[in-house]
Amino acid sequence: MLEPNPIVAEHVLHDAHYKVLICLICGHAIKSDVGIKRYFKDAHSRMLDISSRKALVEYGGSLSLIDPDHISIPSPNSPVCIVVVDNNSRERKV
Ligand SMILES: [Zn+2]
Repeated sequence: MLEPNPIVAEHVLHDAHYKVLICLICGHAIKSDVGIKRYFKDAHSRMLDISSRKALVEYGGSLSLIDPDHISIPSPNSPVCIVVVDNNSRERKV
């Protein structure tokens, strides 16, 4: 796994428990592999230049991710960590 660079730390969050990559710009879980490249190009190409997107794709490629569509929903009694992305401050609130 690569050490996150500032671009990565600012724009994505890796949830190691659920093995998903979360976009901190809008809070969506990102599909792995080709999905990461396509996601940032389609959704955020205006605010991310190509070198930033490349860093995000490289980071995502270094992780063991599963497709967000295949994540099981936690049971009501299980402890849950909720990540809320505030689009104004872009701070992570857990
Ligand atoms: Zn996004």
